[in-house]
Amino acid sequence: MTFVITETCIDVKDTACVDVCPVDCIHPTKEEAQFEEVTMLYIDPDECIDCDACVPVCPVDAIYSEDELPEDQSKYTQLNADFFE
Ligand code: SF4
Ligand code: SF4
Repeated sequence: MTFVITETCIDVKDTACVDVCPVDCIHPTKEEAQFEEVTMLYIDPDECIDCDACVPVCPVDAIYSEDELPEDQSKYTQLNADFFE
């Protein structure tokens, strides 16, 4: 399983989630060149350990467990994974 970042992160991308992720699987970080180009951040599904630490720190409730993703946000599972292709 993985956690997924959804629509409400767009144009917020405050990186609060990056700061708490124990396995550094949320990208791009502010230190990465792509940070300025993206509209939101993404979780690497191959690295996420489903620890839930990122969920409560997100100011816009953008992060969900994959199996609790609202139906209208379902495309974000693939959109998060695609970033790491
Ligand atoms: S904490 Fe929420 S709004 Fe901030 S970057 Fe992470 S997912 Fe986006
Ligand atoms: S659930 Fe844990 S491992 Fe997965 S992105 Fe959030 S903080 Fe990182």
